[in-house]
Amino acid sequence: MSLKAIVKTTREKGFDYMDVEMPKVGPRDVLIKVKAAAICGSDLNFYVWNKAFCEGLVKELPFIPGHECSGEVVEVGSAVTHVKAGDRVSFDSHIPCGYCRQCQIGRPHTCTNMGLFGHNMNGCFAEYTVAKETGVRKIPDALSWEAAALLEPLGVVIRPVLESGVSMSTVCIAGCGPIGQFAISLTSALTASRIFAVDINPQRLALAKEMGATDLIDAREKPNFGDYLINETEDGLDIFIDASGNVHTINEGLRSLRFGGTMYMVGNPKEPLVIENPMRKITLREVTIKGNWGRSMFETWEKAENFLLSGKINLDKIITHRFPMSEYEKAFEIAKSGEGCKILLYPEE
Ligand SMILES: [Zn+2]
Ligand SMILES: [Zn+2]
Repeated sequence: MSLKAIVKTTREKGFDYMDVEMPKVGPRDVLIKVKAAAICGSDLNFYVWNKAFCEGLVKELPFIPGHECSGEVVEVGSAVTHVKAGDRVSFDSHIPCGYCRQCQIGRPHTCTNMGLFGHNMNGCFAEYTVAKETGVRKIPDALSWEAAALLEPLGVVIRPVLESGVSMSTVCIAGCGPIGQFAISLTSALTASRIFAVDINPQRLALAKEMGATDLIDAREKPNFGDYLINETEDGLDIFIDASGNVHTINEGLRSLRFGGTMYMVGNPKEPLVIENPMRKITLREVTIKGNWGRSMFETWEKAENFLLSGKINLDKIITHRFPMSEYEKAFEIAKSGEGCKILLYPEE
């Protein structure tokens, strides 16, 4: 039996939409009929074949990209007991080994032998996908297929927003793509006193306003927005969450923090991060810089589900486009243009 899938076949721009063989189900595997899948920035890197991102990460071609999805279990391996055919599920794209030091000290989300679903193994841009049982999680009945497909990316910002204690604080979120919009919505639900949103795309800034940002900063008009933030917050921000990966933005963010403020780095800087005047920016002002590698398994998932079920986030605004998988090219060209926000793909019925 064969199935349709979006496949990366060459080390250049583009994908193919083609028939592939039905995947084999190993003893600890779960075969899932995909109901909804979402495009992530990393999928876009695979589409355009951003060499710096792809080489070293992708083990071999061809492979099926996609790692944010929901679906129905159709078959389970002989050793799988916690889910069965008919269950509605989503799953974490991180596949920890369970035995390395990080796994053993209770940090499986930073496993040093991490398998990455849809990155170094086949993913979910297909009619059916095979997930490892350890990552598969049943979803609440009240959660739609679409909402469940967004649990994985939403989970990326849950820890920084909750850990930093945004409530009653001044917060700046830079980079208003899907991850930034999730962060703004969550920060707003937790009643931050001011939420500054930074981007260079007016459409995304307008969406940030709808998600709960109180102040919009167009970084094309105010490239050195640090001064503005310091001014607006008396003596600096409590928290800066970077989802842009832009090194200038991160420097402006560090400059704008109050004494003892915290910078969360969620974005993916593509250039070396040179911190100008680190004595003044970091040491003297006792600033904390924290990295964040996605969800903790599975505490974050529970929180993400609860947040989606609370109705405090309007996903209809965040999901701006929907396409059948056969029209992947349109979907990825829109993703590339930066127009819209989250783009969903559906297998053909
Ligand atoms: Zn992703
Ligand atoms: Zn491990």
